[in-house]
Amino acid sequence: LGEAAMALTPNDHGWNDMLGTAPGPRMNATFVTLARNSDVWDIARSIRQVEDRFNRRYNYDWVFLNDKPFDDTFKKVTTSLVSGKTHYGEIPHEHWSFPEHIDQDKAKKVREDMAQRKIIYGDSISYRHMCRFESGFFFRQELMMNYEWYWRVEPSIELFCDVHYDPFRYMAEHKKKYSFVLSLYEYVETIPTLWDSVKKFMKNYPEHIADGNSMGFLSDDGGETYNKCHFWSNFEVGNLEWLRSQPYIDFFESLDQDGGFFYERWGDAPVHSIAAGLLLKKEEIHFFNDIAYYHVPFTHCPTGEQTRIDLRCHCNPKENFDWKGYSCTSRYFDINKLDKPQGHIEEE
Ligand code: GDP
Ligand code: MN
Repeated sequence: LGEAAMALTPNDHGWNDMLGTAPGPRMNATFVTLARNSDVWDIARSIRQVEDRFNRRYNYDWVFLNDKPFDDTFKKVTTSLVSGKTHYGEIPHEHWSFPEHIDQDKAKKVREDMAQRKIIYGDSISYRHMCRFESGFFFRQELMMNYEWYWRVEPSIELFCDVHYDPFRYMAEHKKKYSFVLSLYEYVETIPTLWDSVKKFMKNYPEHIADGNSMGFLSDDGGETYNKCHFWSNFEVGNLEWLRSQPYIDFFESLDQDGGFFYERWGDAPVHSIAAGLLLKKEEIHFFNDIAYYHVPFTHCPTGEQTRIDLRCHCNPKENFDWKGYSCTSRYFDINKLDKPQGHIEEE
């Protein structure tokens, strides 16, 4: 190190310049995280990795949303870690509560029954509010209305490789609206009547169903039944204007009327995925092979060795989930007639 560099501390002018800012335009984009105050140290780990691998060179904003007010510790820690501007929003009550048409007794019985059957989060009210919020409301929060693109980040995720270009710009320039890194089959116990509800929507709103959609990813019999494939929504880079569009709003409201967020335990992952699969053209959904990612218990690690070397990845390629039997990613490649990445091995 030169003497000048050695003398610099984070408070001196020039410290940020040493980190190197990526040239080129920025998109109208933000990171978005839904979290509780108690998630602060787990989201801190996620932010540190997103910053180290990507955002320290791009400085995008970060919006934090909570059904309760964020406390000072949460705000201080996250603001110190994010290189862009941070914004903190409290979710309005009507976006985090039972709609009037929900029969409380029926919903309670469902929770008791699911608790007995040991269905994950089956007894939880807050998890259901979370899934409904992520399905229908995060993209129309006041703070989100300022943006066109979002990247969702959850607590305790990992990013294993450098992200050496701007994913928001990639999405914009390639006319993508939704993206994923991991896909899998949903637990059927959480969504027994979701597809009935989707079929009702398709019948009532045929004008919203896109030509050249991804029905082949969602169904093996032309739409009669759902094969449970979905994109894992704890990672998403997507277009907010699509989510705010009439087709998506009609889709969410139609599902919400049927009550499955409370009478079952519909997740936002199958809801977003089915919407993307039916309302978008299949070319509008992107797979980010070079964004290596972990959320318990699954890993996406690029199989190509050169990619991992070039991007300084620290994931074990043997842990890559993409081509294992419980992943749906090979279906995505098949319906889009894409070549599978270098080094991939199909497993049962
Ligand atoms: P899982 O990934 O499905 O196991 O669910 P998580 O516990 O990770 O929750 C999904 C996201 O919602 C995470 O970003 C959580 O921080 C957030 N979350 C879950 N429950 C609540 C809640 O009751 N309040 C708030 N504010 N955020 C929540
Ligand atoms: Mn999570």
